[in-house]
Amino acid sequence: MSEPTVLITLRRGDITTDGDVDAIVNAANSTLLGGGGVDGAIHRAAGPGLLAECRTLGGCGTGDAKITGGHDLLAAHVIHTVGPVWSTRADEAGRQEKDAQLASCYRRSLEVARENDLVSMAFPSISTGVYRYPVERAAAIAIRTVRETAARLGGFEEIRFWLFDDATLAPYRETLEAV
Ligand code: ADP
Repeated sequence: MSEPTVLITLRRGDITTDGDVDAIVNAANSTLLGGGGVDGAIHRAAGPGLLAECRTLGGCGTGDAKITGGHDLLAAHVIHTVGPVWSTRADEAGRQEKDAQLASCYRRSLEVARENDLVSMAFPSISTGVYRYPVERAAAIAIRTVRETAARLGGFEEIRFWLFDDATLAPYRETLEAV
């Protein structure tokens, strides 16, 4: 019997505009107290209530995920996950460890969503901004992990990726269409 497949879709633009999913995922840092990039955009759109709730969480480890309300966002929930920082100095073992942490971000986010009975979510491209992950490498990990984890957990209707620019969208599209 084949595994159930989940609908994975790609959009270009600002993840904070999505009002059609149960949760948007934030590429946060380990303090969970806000930052730049997508993290800053989510906190700006969600308002100060999100930061107040994040202060109660005690941070988040790399590769883990924690859930909050969406506050002033259109989505009802935010799942905050902390991606690895890419290092060009890492050796092959170090790179594989980063890959495992990045996969864990997607896996843990989906597990937290499942525990909360959420059926649709939106991910940004975790770690490929300030954290400098090579986007082709990150896209392959993202698509593969979401596909495998969603099939294993079941119950998801749609998982979408919001890619901020064409240079990020292209490798996600190529990976999604390749398999
Ligand atoms: P990280 O620190 O995990 O690298 P960043 O926020 O710096 O996180 O970047 C992750 C990706 O999110 C990058 O591709 C960046 O261009 C993109 N991004 C930034 N703002 C938004 C937004 N509002 N919606 C979707 N993606 C965004």
